[in-house]
Amino acid sequence: MSEPTTDPAATSGASRRIISARECDHNHECVGCGVHFSEPCHPACPFATGVYRPAVLLRAAARLLREHRGGVGYDVGGALFTAALDLVGEADASGACDEARRILTGYLLDRWGAKAAPIRTELVYRLGLFSDLAEIAMSLYAAAAQHDGIDFDPDTFGDFSA
Ligand SMILES: [Zn+2]
Repeated sequence: MSEPTTDPAATSGASRRIISARECDHNHECVGCGVHFSEPCHPACPFATGVYRPAVLLRAAARLLREHRGGVGYDVGGALFTAALDLVGEADASGACDEARRILTGYLLDRWGAKAAPIRTELVYRLGLFSDLAEIAMSLYAAAAQHDGIDFDPDTFGDFSA
């Protein structure tokens, strides 16, 4: 007679994937796959597979901005890190956060042009300092879309006011 292998010790470590609770955005759409919250997630959605790409982190960070106010403006880097902690867990958070930050920096460089290049390490910080909440959120979504090679339409972004 073998013991049932349902104790936590037997299954922990079997997989590094973390299935987090699904997160929906200001349009009540899943930040992972974009379906409306009244619909089930796409089977390939990160909240179904447990594999979170950086674009998901960027969108998940937008909803955390309100909890990351800086002395002036918003702490975008802090929101990204919290999103990473929530989604990929502590062990992988800083790597995932760095990757999302790199994507956002690339997007801001494209948008702000050559004059931004000398201060590229400060761009995410400056976005938080000088932009309002809706603009930061839109930048996060636009950077995610650019990274995924899809079009971002500001007209359908919806209301993201403070
Ligand atoms: Zn989803």
